[in-house]
Amino acid sequence: MTIKAKNIGIDVIPPTAECNDINCPFHGSLSVRGQVVDGVVATMRMNKTVIVERNYLRYDRKYERYEKRSARYACHASPCMGLKVGDRVTIAECRPISKTVAFVVVEKKE
Ligand SMILES: [Zn+2]
Repeated sequence: MTIKAKNIGIDVIPPTAECNDINCPFHGSLSVRGQVVDGVVATMRMNKTVIVERNYLRYDRKYERYEKRSARYACHASPCMGLKVGDRVTIAECRPISKTVAFVVVEKKE
């Protein structure tokens, strides 16, 4: 490995690009802890922040069926991730970066 990416303590493939974003978990000083979830990039209209949507099924015992649920997370995305809408990503919880952002994108899946 020749790329200078910090080990963030969870089992993900670090990005190949570099960046100088202070809130990058690999190249800055942001640490991650807590929840790790998978999702899809839904919108990226903000600067360095994306909306990640996660769809999941919840079992309803009374009706013995599954219901579709979804959750949206505002996530910090550092420039080295190179994201676009529709990418499957892994996000991890971090300290609150702004009023609504407390997750950061840690992996882009091929
Ligand atoms: Zn970075």
